[in-house]
Amino acid sequence: MADQEVPHATFDTILILDFGSQYTHLLTRRLREINVYSEMLPCTQKIADLPFKPKGIILSGGPYSVYEDGAPHADPAVFDLGVPILGICYGLQEIAYRLGKDNVDAGTEREYGHADLHAKRLDDQGHVDKLFAGLEGQIKVWMSHGDKLVKLPTDFHTIATTSNSPYAGIAHQTKPLYGVQFHPEVTHTPLGATILKNFAVDICGAQQNWTMSRFVDQEIARIRKLVGENDHVLGAVSGGVDSTVAAKLMKEAIGDRFHAVLVNNGCMRLNECDIVEETLNKHLGINLTVVDASKRFLDGLKGVSEPEKKRKFIGNTFIDVFEEEAQKIEAEAEHQGAKIKWFLQGTLYPDVIESISFKGPSATIKTHHNVGGLPQRMIDGQGMRLIEPLRELFKDEVRALGRQLGIAHELVMRHPFPGPGIAIRVLGEVTPERVEIARRADHIFISMIREAGLYDQIAQAYAALDPSKAVGVMGDKRVYAEIIILRAVETTDFMTARAFPFDNEFLSRCSTRIINEVHGVSRVLYDISSKPPATIEME
Ligand code: GLN
Repeated sequence: MADQEVPHATFDTILILDFGSQYTHLLTRRLREINVYSEMLPCTQKIADLPFKPKGIILSGGPYSVYEDGAPHADPAVFDLGVPILGICYGLQEIAYRLGKDNVDAGTEREYGHADLHAKRLDDQGHVDKLFAGLEGQIKVWMSHGDKLVKLPTDFHTIATTSNSPYAGIAHQTKPLYGVQFHPEVTHTPLGATILKNFAVDICGAQQNWTMSRFVDQEIARIRKLVGENDHVLGAVSGGVDSTVAAKLMKEAIGDRFHAVLVNNGCMRLNECDIVEETLNKHLGINLTVVDASKRFLDGLKGVSEPEKKRKFIGNTFIDVFEEEAQKIEAEAEHQGAKIKWFLQGTLYPDVIESISFKGPSATIKTHHNVGGLPQRMIDGQGMRLIEPLRELFKDEVRALGRQLGIAHELVMRHPFPGPGIAIRVLGEVTPERVEIARRADHIFISMIREAGLYDQIAQAYAALDPSKAVGVMGDKRVYAEIIILRAVETTDFMTARAFPFDNEFLSRCSTRIINEVHGVSRVLYDISSKPPATIEME
């Protein structure tokens, strides 16, 4: 069972109901950026089942047409809750359609891209509606719709127009009910954040109190209450920012009743185990056990070159090692009688969003429990419960939390590293020799990126090994050796990414150093593909 308590007790919440737009999660982000706590749920959410009362509700955009059979509609109770509502694009059409089926029609001209919006002057003094306060005059907005409001719903008035959309913004005359045809959440609507702030803060009255220091206090109190006075918590750490921040938070909350375990799977980066031990144990004072299972992993990976098989083997072996470790800790003399009842997992909000976002009338919506590939066998088998203190946070919020907890800048800003490690960057067969080549090349590449002062501009960088070999000539001798592929990407959300534009001279220096210093490499390539269509990792 996952730990489901959420921060609504401390923070006013703006609820986003997701109708399947690709931008829905941006609404959550934009609100949190102005320190208003926000959460997203599928549009099918029953209001009676909500465990909290939101300060306001936003109905998102979506790919459907409100008048189509099977199009998703919000629980009617949404409109009886008595809190302000803002509909965006599909959300606006949903509000209008429920009030009169002939209010919405398939547009003859679709409208995609920029439009100039005029907030309407509502009186002689030139006042505009609260939703557009501070945005008098013309602003640029971004549109993406094919359907259109053709009539004003009864008791509504127009608060903004564009040349194409006479009802680009509407409001109820007496109730706090609003709709906009454009998307304020995307960066192409440069002043969209002001509109969202006007809604959340001025119209809904939500407090702007979502700060990391408040989050730390409430989260530590919550963990203490949840875990109780005697139980112990186990958590895997990898040296990555998520597991380090989660571990530090547990340490602050329950001290030595938290046990961190680092499993060396033989596919870690150069000196990684020592670095993790140094930071977690010495600097952060966390109770850490390092298990060297490298031989077990590398032996099992012999002859395996299919990516999914690699991931499966590594995942299963990891759980085996971890289970053995949990039993050992419970058996240790100093922990006699202690029960490890909780398992810490560094699930982030994007994983949660992925599992709850609305996929359409026919698709099953996954529930919270399926998040993030849980080691389910462990949880079931040992009767442990999951504790997921980062499940409401985006990656940059995890970094802010890390800073708040006093974790060093280099660690907080570290690039993500995949769970299976270098194994999925060694394409083809994973042998100890090939892992070593990838590891050494990676170390040179990352060090050179650091020396050039580029590390923080790059979201993720690494060296991989191509499955084929290539011919080269070294010291007048023919060689037939490995090919290194360097990859470095720029991205903020890891959903889309582009190759980092290094200058050629830098790449040539990387190539020279790698070929000179790593025995068994005959050439170096740079991967220039973006995501999509390529992914950030290779397998
Ligand atoms: N599908 C609806 C339309 O085309 C809503 C689009 C949206 O919400 N972006 O008008």
